[in-house]
Amino acid sequence: MNTNNEYNLTKADATKPVYSITPFTLLDYPHKTACILWFAGCNMKCVYCYNPDIVFGKGKISISEVLNFLNRRKSLLDGVVLSGGECTSHKNIRQLLQEIKKLGFLVKIDTNGSNPEKLINLINENLVDYVALDFKSTKEKFNEITKSNLFSEFEKTLNYLVKSKFPFEVRTTVHSELLNLEDLQSMTEKLENSGYRGKYYLQYYLNDVMSIGNISNTKRNYINTESIQTKLEVVIRN
Ligand code: SF4
Repeated sequence: MNTNNEYNLTKADATKPVYSITPFTLLDYPHKTACILWFAGCNMKCVYCYNPDIVFGKGKISISEVLNFLNRRKSLLDGVVLSGGECTSHKNIRQLLQEIKKLGFLVKIDTNGSNPEKLINLINENLVDYVALDFKSTKEKFNEITKSNLFSEFEKTLNYLVKSKFPFEVRTTVHSELLNLEDLQSMTEKLENSGYRGKYYLQYYLNDVMSIGNISNTKRNYINTESIQTKLEVVIRN
C-alpha cells in the first residue's frame, strides 16, 4: 500500500489476471456474503462452458485494483470467491490471497482440480477456507468433454481434499448428450470410493447460451437422483 492507503503492487501488476468482478452474491459462497473474482483463461476448454469470453479473453483488472476494491468492502462482505476460468493457473494468486487474508476475508476457490500442487500449497498456508471442485466426467469421457488430459490431476486434487478432511463440495454440470445415467452412476461410485461423504451437486447445463463447443440444448429433468445407487446425497442445484 502507498501513503494514500491504495495498493500499488508494481511487479504483480505487470499482468491483469482478472476479467471482471461480481461485487455481491449470496449464492456462490455457502451461507456467506461474497464477491466473485472472475479470472481470465483456463487450461481446459469444456464443450459446455458458457464463459468463452472469460476462457479466451484477456484480463482487464490488476491485483492492486482488486485489492483496492476489496479494501473498500471490508465491512460489507464475508468472503471472496475466486472463479473463472481457472484461478489456480495464475502465478500471482498466492500473493493476492496473502493480501486478501490480511484484509480478513474468507476465501473460496472454484477449481477444475487441474493444479493439485498449487492448491495444496495454498491450503497448507491457510490461504483458502473452502473449495468447490468440478468433477467434469468419467475418465473415459474426460478428454472429449474438457479438451484436456488432466484427469489424473483432478484425481490427485480430489484425493487430497478427501484425505485432509478439507471443507469442500463436488459438482458436475450435466448435459443429456454428454453424460448419461450410467456415467453419473460411475462418477458417484468413484466419489464414494474416494471417501467423499459430502453432498454431490448436479447442475443442468444452461440452455440457450453460447458455449465453447456450440452444443445443443440439454434435455431437462433426464436425471432421477433416486435411481442413482449411492449413500451420498445427490442434489440437483438448478
Ligand atoms: S467450464 Fe471448463 S473451460 Fe469453462 S472455465 Fe470451467 S474448466 Fe474452464
